[in-house]
Amino acid sequence: MSNKPFSSFEMAQSQFDKIADLLGLDGPTQDLLRWPMKEYQFLIPIRMDDGQIKIFRGFRVLYNDARGPGKGGIRFHPQETIDTVRALAMWMTWKCALLDIPLGGSNGGVVCDPHNLSLREQEQICRGWVRQLSRDLGPQIDVPAPEVMTNAQHMLWMLDEYEVIRGEKLPGFITGKPIGMGGSLGRLEAAGFGLVFALREALKELGIPPEDTTASVQGFGNVGQHAIQLYQQMGGKVVCVACWDQKDGTSYSYKKESGVDLDSLSSIADHFGGIDKKRALDLGYEVLPGSAWLEQNVDILIPAAIENQITIDNVKNIRPRVKIIAEGANGPTTSEADRVIGERNIFLIPDILANAGGVTCSYFEQVQSNMNYYWEKDEVLGKLDVKMTAAFSSVLEQAKKKNLYMRDAAFFIAIARVAQACKDRGWV
Ligand code: NAD
Repeated sequence: MSNKPFSSFEMAQSQFDKIADLLGLDGPTQDLLRWPMKEYQFLIPIRMDDGQIKIFRGFRVLYNDARGPGKGGIRFHPQETIDTVRALAMWMTWKCALLDIPLGGSNGGVVCDPHNLSLREQEQICRGWVRQLSRDLGPQIDVPAPEVMTNAQHMLWMLDEYEVIRGEKLPGFITGKPIGMGGSLGRLEAAGFGLVFALREALKELGIPPEDTTASVQGFGNVGQHAIQLYQQMGGKVVCVACWDQKDGTSYSYKKESGVDLDSLSSIADHFGGIDKKRALDLGYEVLPGSAWLEQNVDILIPAAIENQITIDNVKNIRPRVKIIAEGANGPTTSEADRVIGERNIFLIPDILANAGGVTCSYFEQVQSNMNYYWEKDEVLGKLDVKMTAAFSSVLEQAKKKNLYMRDAAFFIAIARVAQACKDRGWV
């Protein structure tokens, strides 16, 4: 066997292969579900603020739309690749199926670093991305959403460009829009809160009161901050948070044994979820290396930053006390590390379940936008709780019934649903 590490998409494919065998999927169904149905790679020329033209690379992958229009984020990242986009699009397909949402899966991105771009330049990239794809996106075709380093403003620029091209108002084209401009109340909190709804169910299953637990979190962006908010409201204590430091080009962990204070910590974080190191020291935080979040003596680990963070090299640093890993990020655990976590009997809430609150609420937003009728926040979060709890129960039940690892049980349910949709449509 080669020592080359798996790429994200290779990892996603190997997860699929394992479950496809378990499900006994026939050859054509496996061939269909192992690769994206459509993908687009294109260039976006932008006139920069200094008058120079710069060319940016863009991607969109529609993985599978047997269960409904594509749904998936758009990421702005200097290390964005078609491989990551494919993996995220595949996981999105399974995620929508697992939550039983009538949508397919997709993902997209642009190779760029918004830290080094003015707002005008970012707007031009958003508009350029939509122009390249305007015929292949839409409420009934494929619906984008924010992802790493994209936000509500980016979504609104994209919507505006799409509506200008189409000559009509189509707020269901994109989700994650600002409140009052077609956004859904609760969307901002959805991924982090959804993770905590699932975590609450896992703690119930293990018979552990939340107020007796502590947690360590990697990532202090949308998912990390909202997960911390609801988990602490439930009585849990977060003792360590890790994030990326743009200035130093590395990550740090910020530790406070008495528990991090979300309000003061978010007041010293930038829009990208980077914490100001000096001000954190002033607030009494210990500043540790980026890897320290994983090595804390806590009950719960929440990786909520980026993919490939728990690896075969660092999985051994997870303390014996850790009982639950709730994956806020997509693909934070490599396959080899995943095997170790399974062997150690740590209760895993896999990404396609743990962070599915984001897409569930995106779906709610799309429904509201298409109706042009908006719900109250409690209604949105109540519906989210119902969906997350139902999905968690079905995965746990499947895991117990078939004696499967939680990740495998989640994939088992999701892949079976997508395969059935392809069969029912007569594709295979
Ligand atoms: P974000 O951009 O708001 O925040 C990302 C956080 O991760 C920041 O705090 C950043 O500093 C930190 N980070 C980045 N690289 C890091 C590194 N190498 N080490 C330590 N910290 C690092 O992003 P987000 O929306 O919170 O998304 C986080 C993850 O959750 C991503 O994997 C995303 O795909 C996934 N996700 C997000 C949503 C959503 O609705 N926002 C939904 C589902 C899944």
